[in-house]
Parts: sequence; C-alpha cells; structure tokens
Amino acid sequence: MKLTTLGCWGAYPYREGGTTSYLITGQDGFQLLMDCGSRAVTELEKEISPLDLDAVIISHYHPDHVADLGVLRHYFQLYPKHLWQPKVLPIYGHDEDAYEFAKLTMNGVSQGIAYDVKGVEQIGPFDISFIKTIHPVPCYAFRIVERSTGQVLVFTGDTGYFAELSNFTAGADLFLADVYLYEGNENHIAHLTSKEAGEIATESGVKKLVLTHVPPLPPEEIEPEHHLEVLKNQTEKYVKNIPVEIADPHKSWDLGAI
Ligand SMILES: [Zn+2]
Ligand SMILES: [Zn+2]
Repeated sequence: MKLTTLGCWGAYPYREGGTTSYLITGQDGFQLLMDCGSRAVTELEKEISPLDLDAVIISHYHPDHVADLGVLRHYFQLYPKHLWQPKVLPIYGHDEDAYEFAKLTMNGVSQGIAYDVKGVEQIGPFDISFIKTIHPVPCYAFRIVERSTGQVLVFTGDTGYFAELSNFTAGADLFLADVYLYEGNENHIAHLTSKEAGEIATESGVKKLVLTHVPPLPPEEIEPEHHLEVLKNQTEKYVKNIPVEIADPHKSWDLGAI
C-alpha cells in the first residue's frame, strides 16, 4: 500500500499547507481518504480526481480532521452528471457523536457508516482495527492491514500517551504518529510528544516512524526557524535504528519498499 500526505499540520492550516489528511492506495488501486482536514480536496486533486475515491475514514470530528468533508461531498453532489457515473461515497466514522455522525450522510451523495470499534472493518483491500485514544473528544487510532500483502500502517489519530498504544502498533511497517508537542509536555490530555512517539516506536518495533499533526509554530523557547528539525531530533533520541521522517504535503511512502 502507498501512503500519500495531503495535509499534516496540527490544529490549523499554515503557509500553503493544510491539516490532517492522507490518501491510502491499495495494491489494486483502491483509494481510501484518511481524515479530511482543511485543503484536503485541493491537495487530493493534485493526486487523483476526488471522484475516484472509494471510501473515506475519519478518526474524529475536530475541524482540523473534517474541515473539507463538506466540499468533498459537494464534489460528489454537484459535479456535472453527464461527465461521470455518479456513485455514493462511503464515509466511515464513529457514532459516539450523533450530531457529527449524522452529517456524514447526504441522500444519494454520501453514506455515513459507523465502524465497528471492537471488531475488524473490511474496507476494500484493507482490514482495519481500532483503539480509542486519549483526546478531549472520542477519537480512534487505526491499524490498517492490507490483506494481500500483510503490510501494516498504524495511524494514531489525535492522542495523548497511553500504554496500550504500543501493543496496538506492534510490528507496523509505518507508524504515523501525532507529534504536536515537544519533549517536556509528556502525559498531555490530547497529543503525543516527540519523546513519547519515539518510545512507542521503539517498544512496538516499527520499521519507520513518520511525524504528523506537527505544530505550525513552536513554543516561545524554541527558535521558529527549523523548529520541526528540533522536533525530529528530539524524537530520534528515543528510537534505535528506526528512521524518523516528518510528513510533508505530497510526500509518500510505499509500505512494500520500507
Ligand atoms: Zn487534530
Ligand atoms: Zn483532535
């Protein structure tokens, strides 16, 4: 499977970059959009036609993860009918927020589907399992296994540190971790720090760690120029022989080549 970054800032868009959104392409061409933050549709258009999406999956309903869902639905609703074969877009999300979950469905355009957080959801070529994260609103991390290749992608969603995350992440080819915070802010209620992401990657024996949901600007004590390098260097202190990268729009990884 191939993972392509569409947006990776945490919280708000900044300097031409949007917030959390990733395109996951299965070996058979299945196109799954994972979260749909600000600028997601704009960046998606540079990769594929949004109409070629087969499904969408949403970790939680904070605006930096769903900001572009409305305009994505408009694409499916309003794109001239004589130029494509209209289809209903499946959007998988949790149903622990009835108001937000109801918004996923638009008659004849998109269908909200509550993923089975205790089981394994089969979406196209992927088997996806879930774990609830530490966050101010209900949010789920995803373990995405491509059935035909056995490749494993783990995405934390938004989360503070919790011990079970290492088991959930065990043996992933690529670990895509929310690292909104710098070392020194451990056990936060909403996000991982660089140190925690590095420690989880080491404990769970992943092949590659990619930092996402990164902060557009650092706290006062860290120089704004190259601050993401600081975040990466902090993370690297806690990993052994695991390459660490920072996501960037249109940066992609073929999980079979890691
Ligand atoms: Zn977020
Ligand atoms: Zn959030």
